[in-house]
Amino acid sequence: MRGSPPRTIPPLTDLAVPPRFLEDVYQAASECNKCSLCQAVCPTYVTNPVEWETARGRVSLIRDAIEGRIELRDIADGPLSTCLTCDNCIAACAPRVPTGLIVSRARMELHEQEGHPWGQSFAFRSILPKAGALRFLHGLSRAAQVTGVHALLRRTGLSHWLGAGGALMEHVGPLPRQTAYRRARSLPLATAPVRGRLGFLVCCYQNLAAPQATAATMRVLLANGFEVVVPQLACSGLPAKSLGDREAMTDMAVANVDILREVKVDLLVGDVASCTAHYKTYDTVLAGDERHAADAQHVAHRTLLASELLADYGQRAILGPLRWRVAIDEPCSLPIDGPTRSASRRLLAEIPRLEIVPLGEAAMCCGGPGMYFHEQPDRSEAILQRKFEHVVASGADVLVTENVSCLVQLRNGAARYAPRVRVMHVFEVLDESIETAQRRNAVIPE
Ligand code: SF4
Ligand code: SF4
Repeated sequence: MRGSPPRTIPPLTDLAVPPRFLEDVYQAASECNKCSLCQAVCPTYVTNPVEWETARGRVSLIRDAIEGRIELRDIADGPLSTCLTCDNCIAACAPRVPTGLIVSRARMELHEQEGHPWGQSFAFRSILPKAGALRFLHGLSRAAQVTGVHALLRRTGLSHWLGAGGALMEHVGPLPRQTAYRRARSLPLATAPVRGRLGFLVCCYQNLAAPQATAATMRVLLANGFEVVVPQLACSGLPAKSLGDREAMTDMAVANVDILREVKVDLLVGDVASCTAHYKTYDTVLAGDERHAADAQHVAHRTLLASELLADYGQRAILGPLRWRVAIDEPCSLPIDGPTRSASRRLLAEIPRLEIVPLGEAAMCCGGPGMYFHEQPDRSEAILQRKFEHVVASGADVLVTENVSCLVQLRNGAARYAPRVRVMHVFEVLDESIETAQRRNAVIPE
């Protein structure tokens, strides 16, 4: 696909035509002034510099489809499928054209016109919304890894037959035995005096792939005086949104709103930037659902990212010294403006002896969201490789992020391109600092 244009596009006409579909993003798509400033910040363009890989190119083609000059299916393979919906382009865009949203809506429209791939539809309806199905798959995958069945499938090349599931197992690597939900059962009490009661939005992906990060976040919140309640939730619906399945996205939001309605807490908090950001949009997702709109709004307006919450309220736990050189990779799903993007940095800056080193292109996507690594393997690898050129140049020995897709992707990148660099969730670093302080205090009481 590299460098090849989308399929034949009929010539443009000057006719002003009413939008055929996607009325909600048509105006935004029309605001692109073709300045091209988005090129340099788009991870797909910098690794494959052709026009349709830019926000400008994608938005223009989607607009052509809306106005009837081409069909969405003409741009499905390429402009629509390679976009990471990371929104890094917005940072360079004066009219703030929301390309990620426009591409997501175009994918939804395409699926509404042509139906969903069977496997994807099954996963969104029968696995991701069901905690039991996820637990079963986790047990099965782990058993395959522990008994060597998975290694055998890999050696014989049969793991390819498992499709996206097999690719995900490969990508995530060894699965920890205990999920985040299980780890949450044996956490300490909140440090007195209690500052508030939080409902924890466990991400279903991090629950299985990096549960130690979620457990670390909970320990840090408890050490800082917050009580933590852990409701059993379905998937937030973000993967369905990214891949354009509006119905599945809405159903998962409804299921979670029904659960969270009964959870009596002051605020809701998550430690996966993309998943938490999606909960913040529940008011929009369920705006047209009379039965759930008010509760969805309540969820959206009370949800915070854990770093955002702790940076706002201030750290109370004593932090011990860590002699680490840390680079911070910023998940794309953090808001472009405002204090949330710098929350991790502000928290880590309080750790004695820890040095935060600059990271080039820190806000550029690592190529890891969702199943991108599987659907666009060459593109994903090229983006990851570029990311690690910057990591190595930074001289960091620890690379910090706050998103599970990034955590898994960056772990793979470190293994290939920078084996001495450890990849950690920001709350794992804070947890280690608190533990260091506790150890020191046990040896030298205050
Ligand atoms: S959303 Fe990301 S990948 Fe898509 S055009 Fe913008 S910067 Fe490029
Ligand atoms: S920066 Fe924005 S306005 Fe300029 S070309 Fe890109 S999308 Fe269009």
